[in-house]
Amino acid sequence: QLGDTVHWDRWLCDEGNSYKDFLYRVLLLGDHGVGKSSLAGIFGGVSNREESPGVDHYERTLTVDGEETTLVVMDTWEPDKLDVMKKASAYLIVYSITDRSSFESASELRIRLRRLRQADDIPIILVGNKSDLVRSRDISIEEGRACAVMFDCKFIETSACLHHQVGELFQGVVRQIRLRRRHPPP
Ligand code: GDP
Ligand code: MG
Repeated sequence: QLGDTVHWDRWLCDEGNSYKDFLYRVLLLGDHGVGKSSLAGIFGGVSNREESPGVDHYERTLTVDGEETTLVVMDTWEPDKLDVMKKASAYLIVYSITDRSSFESASELRIRLRRLRQADDIPIILVGNKSDLVRSRDISIEEGRACAVMFDCKFIETSACLHHQVGELFQGVVRQIRLRRRHPPP
């Protein structure tokens, strides 16, 4: 079912809200142009994005650590759709390592999320994309990592262009969600 698209009702359905459910929703956030659609497309197994314009979410079953999990990954974010925002089981906040203003936006998004999901312990991964653009790098790995520590979230650098660390990113998000579901808050 590589690249299968899903409808909004799959995102908004009640499955996946309980600790024992296996449908995980992952929302990509970040400035325009940082590579969200590229990352989502790789997850969805899309070989040529021009062939599937307008597709903004993908559903795929991954085997991570010997266990299957279905992820729905969505890459459109309309800030006013708080019901959609709140449904996510995890967030990927993406910036471009070549674009400081996208890095600053990532901080703002983290603060917004903290406010929105105050009571919940929801995994957030800070993603520094475009790691292939070494010559125009503006945010060092150390700076990205320090930001993640401050924000109490995980950190990874990816290159959607080279497909580098993209598999690891989505496996990592599955592990982060599982950790919390296996040790739910009292
Ligand atoms: P979005 O607006 O966040 O969805 O970003 P897109 O996925 O549409 O990507 C914006 C532009 O950045 C496109 O031209 C992509 O080809 C390019 N891009 C995305 N990821 C990478 C990457 O890892 N490296 C490089 N060099 N370019 C990338
Ligand atoms: Mg996009």
